[in-house]
Amino acid sequence: MTTTAYCVPVLMYHHVSPAAGSLTTSPENFECQIASLARRGYRSLTAEQFADFLAGAPTPAKSVLITFDDGYLDNWVYAHPVLQKHSMQAVLFLITGLVGEDVARPHAGQTGAEVPAVLGHLQSKAAIASGAADLAMLRWAEVRAMQEAGTFEVHSHTHTHQRWDLTDDVREVCLKNLTQDLSDSRATLQQQLGSVSEHFCWPQGYFAQDYVAVAQSVGFKYFYTTVAHGQNLVGVSPAHIYRVAVRNRGGAWLLLRIWFAAHPMVGPLYNKWKLWKRALRAKA
Ligand SMILES: [Zn+2]
Repeated sequence: MTTTAYCVPVLMYHHVSPAAGSLTTSPENFECQIASLARRGYRSLTAEQFADFLAGAPTPAKSVLITFDDGYLDNWVYAHPVLQKHSMQAVLFLITGLVGEDVARPHAGQTGAEVPAVLGHLQSKAAIASGAADLAMLRWAEVRAMQEAGTFEVHSHTHTHQRWDLTDDVREVCLKNLTQDLSDSRATLQQQLGSVSEHFCWPQGYFAQDYVAVAQSVGFKYFYTTVAHGQNLVGVSPAHIYRVAVRNRGGAWLLLRIWFAAHPMVGPLYNKWKLWKRALRAKA
């Protein structure tokens, strides 16, 4: 290998769905994005390969890590068939307490299949709040099918997706709640899928130093944030992995965004400019 990756961009998705809304990429744009990555020779890493990259293992220059948060039904219905078609894989951070128990529903890659209706982001939240999470979220049968197909590997995004700092006024109680939530998530993954990893994604992107220590103590080592303005380079802390939120745009946009994210000189300048713009907005 002549060149190894300087930086591996980590892409963050939530929904791939025709139900327009926030945190949503349309199936057409997702297909275009994944096809563009494949056509340009990008390789989607496994979480383990990404961890090896951070530790200094030789990694192809055109590498990305594709991540999905929460575990929505549309990931199975619309994202899974596209990943399968292009032999790409993604990492799914699953809210383990919201996964359903019933049989797998049809997905869009099955000819003649009548795919289930999927909900937009706000509708999904409402369905979960009203006790109808199954309308919005994946079932274990679908999770296993994706894992077996090699399109998604599964890691923890907590059991309940709580902001634990808001669960009590007393910090010790919050930390106890956090420990319980993480332990429940790990036990559920172990029970349902037979394994649990060291990779973990913070709910709503929120974390504090004592949270990191608790999460490390129960077995997590790699922490995925919602912070975009930084680069994942060899030797950087696995406790703070940067992710780029993918917009509902086409493949050309994604290729350009990845180029900005990964470039040794342009990347840091771009991130500084983004931070400066954010600071201006905050002042306004
Ligand atoms: Zn989430």
